[in-house]
Amino acid sequence: MTQLSKKIRAATVGLLVSAAIFAAGCSNTAVNQGGEVYYNAKIFTSDDDQPEASALVVKDGKISFVGSSDDALKFAGSGATSHDMGGSLILPGLIDSHAHYLAINTWTSDVLPLQIDLAMTHDQILEAVKDYAEQYPAEVAPVISEMGYGTDAKPLATELDKVVSDRPVVLTNSGGHGGWANTKALEMAGVTAATPDPSPGISYFVRDENGNPTGEFKEASTMAIMLQNLGLTSGKAIETRFPVFTQTVLSPYGYTSYYDAGLLVADEEESIDALSKAGANIRVFTSFVYRDPVPVDEFVSKMTSVRDKYTSDTVRPTTLKLFKDGTLEDYSSLMFENFSDHSGEGVEILDNDHMMAIARAAADKGFNLHTHAIGDKAISETLDLYRDLGDIEGTKTMAHVQILPEDGIQRFAEQTDVFYQTTPVWALGDEFTKSALGDDRYGRQMPLNTVSQNGTLLTFGSDAPVSNGLAGINPFTEMYHAVKRGESDDYDPPKSEGIDIATAIKAYTINGARQVNAGDEIGSITAGKSADFIVLDRDLLTVPTDEIKDTTVLQTYFKGNEVYNAQDQQGSAK
Ligand SMILES: [Zn+2]
Repeated sequence: MTQLSKKIRAATVGLLVSAAIFAAGCSNTAVNQGGEVYYNAKIFTSDDDQPEASALVVKDGKISFVGSSDDALKFAGSGATSHDMGGSLILPGLIDSHAHYLAINTWTSDVLPLQIDLAMTHDQILEAVKDYAEQYPAEVAPVISEMGYGTDAKPLATELDKVVSDRPVVLTNSGGHGGWANTKALEMAGVTAATPDPSPGISYFVRDENGNPTGEFKEASTMAIMLQNLGLTSGKAIETRFPVFTQTVLSPYGYTSYYDAGLLVADEEESIDALSKAGANIRVFTSFVYRDPVPVDEFVSKMTSVRDKYTSDTVRPTTLKLFKDGTLEDYSSLMFENFSDHSGEGVEILDNDHMMAIARAAADKGFNLHTHAIGDKAISETLDLYRDLGDIEGTKTMAHVQILPEDGIQRFAEQTDVFYQTTPVWALGDEFTKSALGDDRYGRQMPLNTVSQNGTLLTFGSDAPVSNGLAGINPFTEMYHAVKRGESDDYDPPKSEGIDIATAIKAYTINGARQVNAGDEIGSITAGKSADFIVLDRDLLTVPTDEIKDTTVLQTYFKGNEVYNAQDQQGSAK
């Protein structure tokens, strides 16, 4: 069956189901349908046709009824099991619309307590590496690796050599687009003056005047060389690690689906194969990351065959991931004009013709498109690309979208089919960004409220582990930043761009579902959709803004099954 006819069939079944329920609701004849009833709740459905309800019924992993408690109890009947929710708030299961959870779980070492974060100074990083090496001798931790260093680091091998020289150390920066190795790591990875750069000027080893690598490396292809040659990553690790990660990290935060924005370093088919065998309680929409100079036809035919082989309810290899530029931290975001405190206008990872060729070929096969764009020129050219592609079967998403071009608000208003995917905590002001951009561009960052009012669909994600490591995964912290931005002097610029909590919730639910082209299956509490929902400890919609970040999940249901219960966690911790 072709993708299209599958879609039509799914839509027809959906229509029949909703027609039956609608007819039943009107005549009140559908009673004793059985299932599990969750009643006496406050439900924010993320479904504009029925925004609120007080009960839902689940049968065979799907939502079979949404409405009042009385009607739900009648609908399910005497044979059903009912649960009094005591007035708790229920939301649809959350969807992280951009994260790298598979990459996190390709790390083969189980000892990873080394903690580096972007606020640490150069000396503090060296101190942390030194302490770690003392605590974990080479027999326990033969390679030292961690991600997350910030802009104060001076990434020279000789600096790391001062604290550890007996074994390899490889650190990657907080943006995930560059890294820092000691001399031992360069030696063991086989990187010398004779090693060619994967993509000169874009993905390369920084060198001294004699061509010797200094220890710093840029972009994903060099990271792959370092991490793979040192045996630090393997797609197969996903099979055992990812279900545990889901159970201990993702389900407790209420995630029931997410978009994986790329594997960074492991082989995609190997990773997808491992994910298929893992059986984790989450639905994963995975990416194929295109990198020059792989021929377009070859790449798209590989993507298509992997998709056709592995697609299931919980594994969806349905998106092409593209990089238009790098990151601001690396001065590699693509800008119309020079940075204010640094020469250069950033890096164009793929030129426009190349972007169009790969995007067109993948779109013709029904793939969704998801493009990394941070600088104003990268955003402008990605909007051009999406406009020139016209209508496609899949969806068009721009990720991060940090520094809008001068006409950016107008452009987004004209192209409301483009999803605006971002991580709200990035809107927090900081001196590095202010200095790199200058006042005018600094004021053009992430106008979330305006673009949302203009009809653009916002989607939020953690970008983990890029944004503040694992701490950045908490969706309620992100919602808090998205809302708080309009209310505090700490949140500039521009302060007027705070959004309301309902919009933030939709960015984590129905809009995320639409971004991955699954809006008819997940993302809202609607009869016929997968029974993915969460119960919260407070009413997120009415609490003071400052309390949004303190919200916790009491229960997470995935396909109707309880996959997390806060009470069990407390019980087992005792
Ligand atoms: Zn990312």
